[in-house]
Amino acid sequence: MSNNAPKLPELRLFIDGEWRDASDGGTFTSVNPATEAEIGQIAAATAADVDLAVTAARRQFDGGEWSKLSGSDRGRLLYRLADLLERDLELLADLETLDIGKARVHAPLDLGMAIDTVRHFAGRADSVNGTVFSLPEFIGRPRFSYTLRQPVGVVGAITPWNTPGMILSWKFAPALAVGCTFVVKPPAEASLSTLHIAELVREAGFPAGVFNVVTGSGTVAGAALVDHPGVDKISFTGSPEVGAVIGRAAGESFKKVTLELGGKSPQIIFPDADLDVALPTAAMSLFYNQGETCASATRVLVHESLRDEVLSGLSAQAAAVKVGDPFAPDTTMGSLINRKQMDSVLGYVDAGHREGAELVTGGARIGDSGYFVEPTIFTGTNTMTIAKEEIFGPVGTVIGFNDTEEALRLANETRYGLVGVVYTSDLALAHRAAEVLDVGAVWVNAWGPPDPRMPWGGFKYSGIGTELGDAGIAANTNEKAVSMIL
Ligand code: NAD
Repeated sequence: MSNNAPKLPELRLFIDGEWRDASDGGTFTSVNPATEAEIGQIAAATAADVDLAVTAARRQFDGGEWSKLSGSDRGRLLYRLADLLERDLELLADLETLDIGKARVHAPLDLGMAIDTVRHFAGRADSVNGTVFSLPEFIGRPRFSYTLRQPVGVVGAITPWNTPGMILSWKFAPALAVGCTFVVKPPAEASLSTLHIAELVREAGFPAGVFNVVTGSGTVAGAALVDHPGVDKISFTGSPEVGAVIGRAAGESFKKVTLELGGKSPQIIFPDADLDVALPTAAMSLFYNQGETCASATRVLVHESLRDEVLSGLSAQAAAVKVGDPFAPDTTMGSLINRKQMDSVLGYVDAGHREGAELVTGGARIGDSGYFVEPTIFTGTNTMTIAKEEIFGPVGTVIGFNDTEEALRLANETRYGLVGVVYTSDLALAHRAAEVLDVGAVWVNAWGPPDPRMPWGGFKYSGIGTELGDAGIAANTNEKAVSMIL
């Protein structure tokens, strides 16, 4: 296990295969949220640095060594990278624990998914194919029509801090598999795993300039990436507020864009649910990663016949969560990412009290160093602020319902549409819920996980566009229609 002091990666920009300082020498401070101690100073990319990174990526895409590799060659490089990620899994887990404050015991789970994702798309790199169409003759002459599926070009990625390594893999693996080149602006709050992965990209032997990292702020480095004319597509994961800014900017320059945004997902506990499954699963969905998970199912819709049992069961689950030093082997919930996030979460707790929600358990900060908050459960209604807005902390609201129609209606009464969780042993009901829920993913008797073979994307305020699976290939390619009249 870990020693609390993993070997840090280079804390600089990775551009054209080299580590560089920011052009103006600027840096920002990286902080360990569990201790509030400084981890180090990381280079803060300027617009000029972003331009260098995009220029390197363009050179490789527009006729560089990368553009001449076959799909099999790209796949081989990605397989090699996946092996290196696996070799360094424990180090990457240490880095993300240090950076984000999450429980070390959980860190390998989403990083393991990053490895699966890279392997999945490595296996697809040699099969990025179009379609042949059987069409009728055109003006009496035979016709041969097909599509070419070609890489969109330079992909600019902007990632969030909650699971940075996994989300990074969701973006670069399909992009590189199809032959795009890549520039990522990682979250300022958690850049370490991305920087280590850049070193592994170099070790795997990718040509310089195919994969670039511009650490820094969203409003400088992120905005410069979005605005850069040499970028063909923006793949963003983060909040709806920033997503709207990016969507508007991408629209003005007609860039392709995918926006994977937040959630206020429901989990419905129907009367026939197996509570031995539902209770620990519901608690995991609320408290995993300190509740800083886009797919966290924070509205727990419970049939009234089960209300008391669910409330006492969830309280017991909350009491069993061990909050503390993220690196301790028995810790299952760590620190929130920073003071701003903690204040925001505690502000929502206040809003819950103000609006008449009833606190079942938790609701307070733990200690006065680091940003630890108790696992928190309220009972309330679907119209309260705590049931409407994404809190991104360990806070759930239990809401009662009387029949199936009411449950499904309440589940959909939200501006978000990322995930819906359903607990039932009735297959017909599970299928009906899957059809009716207005969300990108439905999970029955389980909370996740997403899978690189399946599509991932949100409806409504949860996003535009889809990543992973076939959609991941489509999102990084243009399909060109070719017709030959013979
Ligand atoms: P955020 O929107 O604050 O930041 C995301 C990224 O955007 C960061 O890298 C940030 O530096 C950058 N950014 C900020 N302003 C920018 C600007 N003007 N131009 C360009 N880039 C800018 O989100 P966050 O706090 O890092 O992450 C939490 C959010 O992400 C939550 O809403 C969560 O639900 C969402 N999320 C969604 C998914 C998903 O798959 N749908 C996955 C994880 C997180």
